[in-house]
Amino acid sequence: MPSSQIPVAVLGATGSVGQRFISLLDHHPWFKVVALAASDRSIGQSYVQACRWILNDPMPEYACNMSVVPAAPETINAKIVFSALPADLAKELEPKFAQAGFAVCSNASSYRRAEDVPLLLPEVNADHIQLVKQQRERRGWSGCITTNPNCTSTGLTVALKALDDSFGVKKVFAVSLQALSGAGYPGVSALDINDNVIPNIRGEEDKVEWEPRKMLGKLVGDKVELANIGFSVHTNRVAVTDGHTVCVSVELSQPADPEAAARALCAYLTPAAARELPSAPRPVIEVRNEADRPQPRLDRLAGKGMTTVVGRIRRDPLLSLKFVVLSHNTIRGAAGGSIYNAELLVNEGLL
Ligand code: NAP
Repeated sequence: MPSSQIPVAVLGATGSVGQRFISLLDHHPWFKVVALAASDRSIGQSYVQACRWILNDPMPEYACNMSVVPAAPETINAKIVFSALPADLAKELEPKFAQAGFAVCSNASSYRRAEDVPLLLPEVNADHIQLVKQQRERRGWSGCITTNPNCTSTGLTVALKALDDSFGVKKVFAVSLQALSGAGYPGVSALDINDNVIPNIRGEEDKVEWEPRKMLGKLVGDKVELANIGFSVHTNRVAVTDGHTVCVSVELSQPADPEAAARALCAYLTPAAARELPSAPRPVIEVRNEADRPQPRLDRLAGKGMTTVVGRIRRDPLLSLKFVVLSHNTIRGAAGGSIYNAELLVNEGLL
């Protein structure tokens, strides 16, 4: 635990993910929010004026009267910046912050594939945080960039990690049912999504077919060797507010019946380095035994939105097993994940 609170800033503070940051950082034991940044539209206004608050919990008091500042290193006096910026902007701005000495914990996809940038789920691959050392050496930065995965890759990868450790995973076929908050605010038009399913989310399938391979890969020397797992993924937008559901079929290296798989999922433990951090999911995975769970409305807040919920584990007639995974997209899949990454950075002495 740090000896005093660490000053942090949120970039993209008014958006769907930004609001989750504001909410989750309220009374955080290690971090104190000192700056909120957004676009020209919002700069100079108080947060309460600039932001159309869309969460059920009220806007935390600390944020209401903070003045929104530009997303630029020279206007922010913090050690960590949480980035909830659109990807094109993140690509340009995040290196500037890292160069200026900030630790950037990003939700954007811009640097997830960079060899020297960790793509982290601390309950899966906490050791990959060590990539930060060579990132600093190679790029001459005193700060750094860490990333968290796409919100659909998140719960899927946690469940696959538990199965891979116990039985080996060879192939994955998955179909997502993704919530509206994953498209940002205001996101998808009501006329498009009401009474409908949209069977395409631009760029998403490619991300979900690649990112788990990096996170499930092994850190060998200063490189991550991608996991040798084949993926085929369909992504769909559905009329759910929060919580991404993924229906998954897997081919395993060693046979496992549904009961053995459920035991492996329940028993899965976060690596020691990340187990006791404030945002660590407790439990990492919850297995539901009812025939009709998990459901987003009922299960997305398991473990304060950080737990991955798995259910409907059964034999697959084509591959080995099939099951359903649910994960909260703006908590575990975005803001909560970034905060967890920042806690890991602090705990590893890498700030
Ligand atoms: P969003 O609701 O559209 O919010 C975008 C934020 O960026 C707003 O605060 C906006 O500020 C700010 N912004 C836009 N242009 C800017 C500029 N030129 N300078 C400074 N700030 C600017 O998007 P989101 O859903 O929160 O997503 C944010 C990032 O997280 C994206 O890269 C997304 O892909 C990623 N992500 C999202 C999710 C999810 O579940 N939503 C999950 C994982 C990752 P104004 O309000 O002032 O315009």
